[in-house]
Amino acid sequence: MSVRRYDLDTCIGCRYCFIVCPMDVFRFDEETNKSVIAYPDNCQSCGQCYLHCSGKSLHIVNDQFTYAMTSHRAPVTAYEHKKRLI
Ligand code: SF4
Ligand code: SF4
Repeated sequence: MSVRRYDLDTCIGCRYCFIVCPMDVFRFDEETNKSVIAYPDNCQSCGQCYLHCSGKSLHIVNDQFTYAMTSHRAPVTAYEHKKRLI
C-alpha cells in the first residue's frame, strides 16, 4: 500500500482519483464532497491518483516504488510520513 491522505481539507471533490485508479481504491462521499481511500490495501502504487490530484490532497509513500516520480510533492518514505503525522 502506498497511497495516503495528505490533507483532506484540500480535497476539492474533483473525483480524478476515483476515476483514474485502476484498483478501485477510492469511493466518494457525496455529503462532504470528498474522496475516501476506502480500500488502501488494494493500492498497487501506480501513482496515478497522486499525479492527477487537483487539490494536492493525496500522499504517496514510496516504500514500494522502483522508479522515480516527479510532481509538485516529492514522495516520502514511510518513516517520514509517520513523523509528519505525529
Ligand atoms: S497509487 Fe494507483 S492503485 Fe494506488 S490508489 Fe492511487 S491510482 Fe489507485
Ligand atoms: S483527485 Fe484529489 S482533489 Fe480530486 S477528489 Fe481525489 S483527493 Fe480530492
